[in-house]
Amino acid sequence: MSSKKKNINQIASSIRDVPDFPKKGIVFKDITPVLSDINLFRKSIDLMVEPFNEDKIDVVVGIESRGFIFGTPIADKLNASFVPVRKPGKLPHETEHISYQLEYGKDSLEIHKDSINEGQNILIVDDLLATGGTAEATCNLITKLKGNICGFVVLIELEFLEGRKKLNQYNVHSIVKY
Ligand code: AMP
Repeated sequence: MSSKKKNINQIASSIRDVPDFPKKGIVFKDITPVLSDINLFRKSIDLMVEPFNEDKIDVVVGIESRGFIFGTPIADKLNASFVPVRKPGKLPHETEHISYQLEYGKDSLEIHKDSINEGQNILIVDDLLATGGTAEATCNLITKLKGNICGFVVLIELEFLEGRKKLNQYNVHSIVKY
């Protein structure tokens, strides 16, 4: 087995399934055991960065909240700046806002209006891709600010929820797939 495959298997086996969290029927993928092991965390960051090393990324956008954890070391590795996308009411300066449909109800995200310049190369980071609603909304926010989306990277992809279908115009990369 290649060392890359071994690393992915190690990461996958440390991700903890928590059934019925935060509500009944959802199996929550808990990444805290990956964070607790600095070697696994470093390997995760290296695997997430690898496909984008040649892309001259200007800005890494991390999605609240676990996207911040992975996004900041990825920005460091790519020598890029880091910009947070947050839940409404958290960012102090002037924001661009987007609402999007969830399975039940609606949610919103915000980004500082002055955080991205037109034409900058953007990599979006989160911990997990499920239905793709959060990722799609983030892409739309960045498009409003005229950023050039080079890719979207997550540690975990729940392939059976087909989130990729919402992102088919983008370069989507994931490490551990279920
Ligand atoms: P979605 O918009 O459906 O793709 O959901 C993605 C967002 O919800 C990410 O920010 C994840 O952190 C979170 N999320 C969705 N499903 C799960 C899950 N099963 N375990 C952990 N986080 C999840």
